[in-house]
Amino acid sequence: MPGKLSQPDRRGFFGPYGGMFVPETLMAPLQDLDRAYRAARRDAAFRRELSQTLRDFVGRPTPLYFAERLSGEVGGPRIYLKREDLCHTGAHKINNSLGQALLARRMGKRRIIAETGAGQHGVATATVCARYGMDCVIYMGEVDMERQALNVFRMRSLGAEVVPVTAGERTLKEAISEAMRDWVTNVRTTHYILGSALGSHPYPMMVRDFQSVIGHEARTQIRRAEGRPPAALVACVGGGSNAIGLFHPFLKDPGIRMIGVEAGGLGLRPGRHAARFAGGRVGVLQGTRTWLLQDRFGQILNTHSVSAGMDYAAVGPEHAWLRDLGRTEYAAVRDEAAVAGSDALCRLEGILPALESAHAIAWLLEAGAALGRDVPVIVNLSGRGDKDVQQVAAWKEARRQRGRTSA
Ligand SMILES: *Cc1c(COP(=O)(O)O)cnc(C)c1O
Repeated sequence: MPGKLSQPDRRGFFGPYGGMFVPETLMAPLQDLDRAYRAARRDAAFRRELSQTLRDFVGRPTPLYFAERLSGEVGGPRIYLKREDLCHTGAHKINNSLGQALLARRMGKRRIIAETGAGQHGVATATVCARYGMDCVIYMGEVDMERQALNVFRMRSLGAEVVPVTAGERTLKEAISEAMRDWVTNVRTTHYILGSALGSHPYPMMVRDFQSVIGHEARTQIRRAEGRPPAALVACVGGGSNAIGLFHPFLKDPGIRMIGVEAGGLGLRPGRHAARFAGGRVGVLQGTRTWLLQDRFGQILNTHSVSAGMDYAAVGPEHAWLRDLGRTEYAAVRDEAAVAGSDALCRLEGILPALESAHAIAWLLEAGAALGRDVPVIVNLSGRGDKDVQQVAAWKEARRQRGRTSA
């Protein structure tokens, strides 16, 4: 399958998805950003600085680790974990934050804004801003600030201003709207580092390119380890950046299954999950046309996931396109299975995964055996789970209480 199939057209469309659905005032800045990014991508000095900083500051390349005991438990494929949890700050988010910070500097912008849900993107962005001496403002829903107090403390320690967002559900969607409002007002001095492969063009393409370092490394590493390509790639899908970063460099290789795992939450009833492909349909949200969770009047539905990083009503437009082409597949995993997946990886491999990544592990435990006997499979371990221990403890306590009342 040609790689070209997955480049957006000049207006930023992947087939019918993507585009630039933004207020008039943002069209020119987004076009400037697109031009600046395309120039940077061609510039050897930019690429060299990015890859040296990824090596020395972020800790790349991350290992591709053969998970022997997990493979035994799943009972079929030979499972390799791509260890994005070992990146500086504990998740893949920094690959993108760093790339965009270097781009902002090239564009002469010294003020950075970003949204954050779970706080991982906020921490990664605050980290690169500290590294380059840039002003940093992070928009975060009030509810998320309570749920992720540790990451709020980290961002403030790194010198960022964390602004509580009190509109609506007070979570990620409102934080993105608030960051866009700031950007409209301050666009001359400010760059907006969007945290996933979402939003208006050029973000889905640009974030994907910065995250594709994951797949490029994995492609070399699996050949060295196995002398053959993988049979399948598996990754969790929030906005879709870690998944597209793993998938994209393999798109040209025939016969590799690519499976994205969405948050099934409490089950597939409206408002109780974030599985856009299982319960959504096509619409426009926050700059892009894609699969969304919405009611019959087009109002965005509430979402739920035990994992804050998966809890969003829209999915990156390139995923929607690749799914239409039959190149990628999507499944949903519920909260309960994700927590069990986290426990399993802890006990079998000594690795505490982020709850987001635990969805991919859980999918393997449920369905991985069918991928084939002794074939190599790569799972993206998008982040480490330290940030989630309180959430998991609270979830288990609530389950224990429920068990008691029903007994
Ligand atoms: C943010 C996050 C995700 C979800 O975002 P994607 O853009 O879908 O990758 C997944 N895993 C971790 C650890 C995260 O921090």
